[in-house]
Amino acid sequence: ARAQAMQVTEQPTAEYGDIGGIDEQVQEVREAVEDPLTNPEQFVEVGIEPPTGVLLHGPPGTGKTMLAKAVANETDATFIKMAGSELVQKFIGEGARLVRDLFELAAENEPAIIFIDEIDAIASKRTESKTSGDAEVQRTMMQLLSEMDGFEARGDISIIAATNRFDMLDRAILRPGRFDRLIEVPEPTVEGREKILAIHTRDMNLADEVDFADLAGKTEGFSGAELESLCTEAGMFAIRDERTEVHTEDFEEALEKIDRDDSPGTPIAF
Ligand code: ATP
Repeated sequence: ARAQAMQVTEQPTAEYGDIGGIDEQVQEVREAVEDPLTNPEQFVEVGIEPPTGVLLHGPPGTGKTMLAKAVANETDATFIKMAGSELVQKFIGEGARLVRDLFELAAENEPAIIFIDEIDAIASKRTESKTSGDAEVQRTMMQLLSEMDGFEARGDISIIAATNRFDMLDRAILRPGRFDRLIEVPEPTVEGREKILAIHTRDMNLADEVDFADLAGKTEGFSGAELESLCTEAGMFAIRDERTEVHTEDFEEALEKIDRDDSPGTPIAF
């Protein structure tokens, strides 16, 4: 059970350079997580506490998980991932215990980054109903807060959480000493999309004519994850046409296919 809910994954390989269009957010995460880990004296000298927890919020597929993995990789920290939803769905009666285990696991593997995806699953505003399920979710969240409150030796364990539903969060988790550093990861701008397309085609055999700026202009509303699948889809069209080089027309066809499969604004089904 424990292994399923939380994973010490293989050391992530994502690097800051693999993340496109959110340079400011990368910088903020580095200041909140990397600096306390690599240069704790700086905080002592200035006389401030480093942030306790970082909350990444924004639409799906914009690079939140990637950002957490990249900072773990770049600082050689153990990356421990837990999904809030999984805790709640599969382990009724065990949520609080698993949160305790999570922090123990991190302490045994310092320096470590605890990444809690879908934090809203355990930290939503309280609903009207008082079913036992809600009480259980509440207990899981209280355990998380108490672990964070009891945190003394700063820096060697960082906590990063992510959510697509910032508005639904219980504000109690945002107090100082808890998730006190909020970083919004937005949908990419046109310049951001251009950079993300360049990143995800790095290993592709592209014709010279392929114009990222033009494609970026045609992919308004696409997330990083959706741009990644657009590139893969374009590659599939080249293969279908028995070519090894990917042309502009392949991207055009991929865009048409995505338009057919999905109404605008909804995430692409993989
Ligand atoms: P969710 O909220 O759905 O968990 P997320 O914000 O955590 O999404 P990721 O899991 O980081 O999104 O992104 C999924 C994949 O999409 C990444 O592995 C990466 O390949 C691609 N991707 C997303 N955003 C970016 C980006 N800014 N730059 C480059 N690639 C990106």
